[in-house]
Amino acid sequence: CGIVGYIGKRGSQDILLEGLKKLEYRGYDSAGIAVFTSNGLEIKKSKGRLAVLEDKLKGEPLEGSVGIGHTRWATHGKPSDVNSHPHTDNSAKFSVVHNGIVENYLDLKDELIAKGRVFVSETDTEVISHLVADEYDGNIVEAVQRAVARMRGAFALGVLTEYEPERLVAVRFASPLVIGVGDGENFIGSDIPAILEHTRDVYILNDGEMAVLTQSGVELMTTGGESISKEIFHVDWDI
Ligand code: GLU
Repeated sequence: CGIVGYIGKRGSQDILLEGLKKLEYRGYDSAGIAVFTSNGLEIKKSKGRLAVLEDKLKGEPLEGSVGIGHTRWATHGKPSDVNSHPHTDNSAKFSVVHNGIVENYLDLKDELIAKGRVFVSETDTEVISHLVADEYDGNIVEAVQRAVARMRGAFALGVLTEYEPERLVAVRFASPLVIGVGDGENFIGSDIPAILEHTRDVYILNDGEMAVLTQSGVELMTTGGESISKEIFHVDWDI
């Protein structure tokens, strides 16, 4: 169970896969990535080791400079291709990676199904992608804030939407997440080693904090929408 994310100018696929490799020690049963390509937000994911995903990507790489990646440790729904992350909604315009557990996912799922949303996986995480899509009215940051306000449990999240390809939204609540600050590129990771190859400047998020990343900057706020400032933590050790 690990998360990585990249927004910048370089190809994101290899950066995401390298980051996920560094998170292998945390254990996982599936892996996947979502990348903005010229065809929109594309997802490739599969049960099994990272090598299985890498094989899938060999023939058809995902080309684009914004993406999120995930290694899964299944808590809700067996390890399978469909249950792997990233998850999306029925419009396929939103993409979510999640570490943790949404405790009230069944209630939220019932409510979303009643609104006509169709679920394809058995995971608690899929609820988040439908919920964000449901809350969306033109601002992904506010949609994520409203979604998170309805969720109970533990979550580190990376969220992308095709409507706002210049932003990557990250949230931390009771699951680890750090933000890497680069030059014309920014990163998210479940831990520092996942992004250390690219930057030594990181923000360590606390519970209830979120970050909005663009190519050129990082904005920090609480999940309640209050702007915050934080010292950059400079990593002076190596892996
Ligand atoms: N609860 C989620 C799932 O089972 C996320 C698990 C994880 O942290 O990898 O898909």
